[in-house]
Amino acid sequence: MSKVDVDVKSGWGSTERQALADLVTGFTAAQVAPHLATWEDAGELPRSLHAAAGDLGLLGLSYPEGVGGSGGDLRDVVVMTESVLQAGGSGGLIAGLFTHGISIPHVIDAATRRHAAGDTAGADVLVDEVIRPTLAGATITALGVTEPDGGSDVGALRTTAVPVNGAGAVTSPDEAVSWRINGAKAYITSGARADFVVVAARAFGDGAAGVALFAVPTEAPGFTVAGRMRKMGWHCSDTAELALVDVEVPAWALLTPGPGQGFASLARHFAVERISLAVTAYATAQRCLDLTLAWTRQRETFGRTLVTRQVVRHDLVEMHRLTDVARTYTRALVDDIVADGGHDDPAAMPNPQVLLRAALAKNTAVAACDSVVATAVQLHGGYGFLRDAEVEMHYRDAKVLGIGGGATEVMTDLAAKLLGY
Ligand SMILES: Cc1cc2nc3c(=O)[nH]c(=O)nc-3n(C[C@H](O)[C@H](O)[C@H](O)COP(=O)(O)OP(=O)(O)OC[C@H]3O[C@@H](n4cnc5c(N)ncnc54)[C@H](O)[C@@H]3O)c2cc1C
Repeated sequence: MSKVDVDVKSGWGSTERQALADLVTGFTAAQVAPHLATWEDAGELPRSLHAAAGDLGLLGLSYPEGVGGSGGDLRDVVVMTESVLQAGGSGGLIAGLFTHGISIPHVIDAATRRHAAGDTAGADVLVDEVIRPTLAGATITALGVTEPDGGSDVGALRTTAVPVNGAGAVTSPDEAVSWRINGAKAYITSGARADFVVVAARAFGDGAAGVALFAVPTEAPGFTVAGRMRKMGWHCSDTAELALVDVEVPAWALLTPGPGQGFASLARHFAVERISLAVTAYATAQRCLDLTLAWTRQRETFGRTLVTRQVVRHDLVEMHRLTDVARTYTRALVDDIVADGGHDDPAAMPNPQVLLRAALAKNTAVAACDSVVATAVQLHGGYGFLRDAEVEMHYRDAKVLGIGGGATEVMTDLAAKLLGY
């Protein structure tokens, strides 16, 4: 099996990054791959896996050490994701174990903002209650944006949050001692196991500008897991419907304290989520290519191994081409984001170039993955259709990559808008 290409020439192959790839490969081979089928059947990951990943510093990658992170940058997260897939992990495993990747950045941004504004106590409560335990693997933090009525149109969400001060609702958010949240969420990754959910709710009026984010403890009265959603793939990652009925959260739970800030925070971090999904897609494709190459080198039909057939070799080259183009495009974007410093004003909308390229990277990698997993199953023949075959899992897991984090059509629409077409 080929190792992850931590290419020295391109700058991806620092000694530290190679050590990270080796660490993640060892972790996945020893603590994930042997148990993955059991977790797929169970429909969720054990909490002990989060603790193990936290102990190794994997959950803290790319986050500041001051809030419990392990440092590093987005390139390290990419190498980690590639290594997990290459060593026998899965897209579902990535989604379930690293769910905090889509939720915790909103909390870190809020803590950073409070700190800069001199609100040390307000920052500390987020760091101590949510960020540090999540990055240590002691706490699970999910992101609740999508609702039963729809997910693509975030600006239309219906969950409400009203400011409350002792006796009842008040008109001004500034008077709020707490917030009362009502609504429903659907398709929430790790929602059945989460200790906190970063909930998107309408706090500041109509439209996208009215959306705010709250760090909601799932033990709050009125918060319930309404159901677990059975799925085509990502079986080891639990996906939940959540109900919030008069859930009261303290004022510190409001992460985005002004109109427009919640949507800006979502848009900023959607870009990284889309890049992460692109990495999952091309890394899944690379794994399927490697498995298929090994298979075609030993499987014989009509007296010869499959790989000796020109048509099969052409299939393999096409799998390689699609995978490599997706990887190269995505990694180039990641390089540019890292070179740019990665973090500008957390309250601002993201750089349009990053939004555009993230959308294109996702669509490119998803299309590559869809094609590669299908060819992988095909070349595995009847075995490829069996639950025993690893490519069968990747085939099912791949489908959601073109739906979650912004469906393919929505990405294309966004690209058209950003290109001015
Ligand atoms: C396994 C899984 C895990 C998920 N995890 C999370 C999570 O952790 N947190 C969270 O908040 N959400 C999560 N989601 C939800 C996901 O983000 C949404 O499913 C996605 O945004 C699409 O929203 P929707 O399902 O409501 O589809 P809709 O918005 O109803 O769209 C349906 C389909 O219509 C098409 N479409 C939509 N808009 C347009 C358009 N403008 N032009 C053309 N075609 C269009 C697309 O093909 C789309 O797939 C998850 C979903 C799944 C399946």
